[in-house]
Amino acid sequence: MFKKVLIANRGEIAIRIIRALREMEVTSVAVYSDSDKESLHVLYADLAYPLFGDREIETYMDIEKIIKLAKNVGADAIHPGYGFLSEKEEFAKACEEAGIVFIGPSSKVIGLMGNKIAARKLMIASGVPVVPGMEEAVSDPEKAQKIAGTIGYPVLIKAAAGGGGVGMRAVQKEEDFPVMLERAQQQAGSVFGDASVFIEKYMDSPRHIEFQLLADNHGNIVHLGERECSIQRRYQKIIEESPSTALTPETRQKMGEVAVAAGRAVNYQGAGTIEFIYSNGDFYFLEMNTRIQVEHPVTEMLTGVDLVKSQIKIAAGHPLPFGQEDIRFNGHTIECRICAEDPLNGFSPSPHRIKGYRSPGGFGIRIDSGVHLNYEIPTHYDSMISKLLAWGNDRDEAIARMRRALREYIIIGPKTNIPYLRAVMDSAVFKRGQINTKFIEDHPHLFEDAKIFVAKDEAIHKKLASLLKAH
Ligand code: ADP
Repeated sequence: MFKKVLIANRGEIAIRIIRALREMEVTSVAVYSDSDKESLHVLYADLAYPLFGDREIETYMDIEKIIKLAKNVGADAIHPGYGFLSEKEEFAKACEEAGIVFIGPSSKVIGLMGNKIAARKLMIASGVPVVPGMEEAVSDPEKAQKIAGTIGYPVLIKAAAGGGGVGMRAVQKEEDFPVMLERAQQQAGSVFGDASVFIEKYMDSPRHIEFQLLADNHGNIVHLGERECSIQRRYQKIIEESPSTALTPETRQKMGEVAVAAGRAVNYQGAGTIEFIYSNGDFYFLEMNTRIQVEHPVTEMLTGVDLVKSQIKIAAGHPLPFGQEDIRFNGHTIECRICAEDPLNGFSPSPHRIKGYRSPGGFGIRIDSGVHLNYEIPTHYDSMISKLLAWGNDRDEAIARMRRALREYIIIGPKTNIPYLRAVMDSAVFKRGQINTKFIEDHPHLFEDAKIFVAKDEAIHKKLASLLKAH
């Protein structure tokens, strides 16, 4: 096992990794930007070193600095978390060249799966169904428009190097196509440094269902079931759950097998996720994420498998301690991403100081978070405050637990999406499991319900504010 692992990340995922390392008695090394010097991940780690940078995102993405530091402090491995450098082929390569273990797959696999077009091609060659669309990048507008016509409107223009829901444009009709293509190419170029785009069929109200994989360096690969992540805003997930209400046992088994086949096709090693778009019993490969995902605790609560420890053990060369048939799925788990966003104002970020904070607890609840009282929600990272998870023996119990946990959750200062999440948990449509990626726009009445919760919470917030002052 490793002796010292450097974590090239911040916030809740850095803390999550530190926790795993501490349980494994491995020394954790945090790194931090100038404004993060008093952050929780710095305080929680065994050792912490400054990166001396005030350009927040760039600081955590400075490959040279991070590798040099890792060498200087004698780290034998680096965990990249999610975001930042986690899917940068150059970073994994720099680790490989420096003789430091990158906790994740090889740089080659990251490179292959990081390009959506290359990944699609490989999946087609391996017999994995993909969303109908084109197999090559396209730059010529006339050619692109012809292809879009063949695929049939509506179509989705996607950046080959895209991620985080950025760089996608749905086009409903032919006359809008040229403008949308130009915008998509421009955005792809400026955000990802690669202007190549491709075109897919835009599926009508599909579901997002993904499968968690674990693969070791000894040829063993398993899936740990699915996570349904259909409730999204701006193509980004806010509620995830497992099992999905959409899948029959037969479809689940089939999708699991396809996910494992997809992982095998790239000789995958580590923890990874195969994302599918699901519609009326059919499913199509969307992309592979070659890292730990935000929503990984959903699977952990359902299976009892610690995914972060598994990643670390796999990277250290351990074989998987279980086969597919040993994995048990127990009950139901729901995750809500608690964000500093105003749901009544288009989920716009609300980067303010946390002036009052009390998180829920009790049986079946888990919170992963990097915030604390007086924490200033930064403007330059994403707006997630925490991940709140509720486990139940069945879906109804998980919903009931999530409802009461959301009710207990007090965050004073920034506006949060809690009132909206409460409205969702209370809604008949969510309880029936009738969800898809258009859920938020299809149910505007939930914003009205959220307003009621905002009003209710104001009274509680006032009381808590005086309680906090009194002590
Ligand atoms: P990113 O890498 O930017 O996160 P993904 O390809 O993973 O992009 O897609 C993110 C989300 O966008 C999906 O969960 C889904 O809601 C939507 N989406 C992607 N492709 C399609 C499609 N072909 N049709 C309909 N919705 C799609």
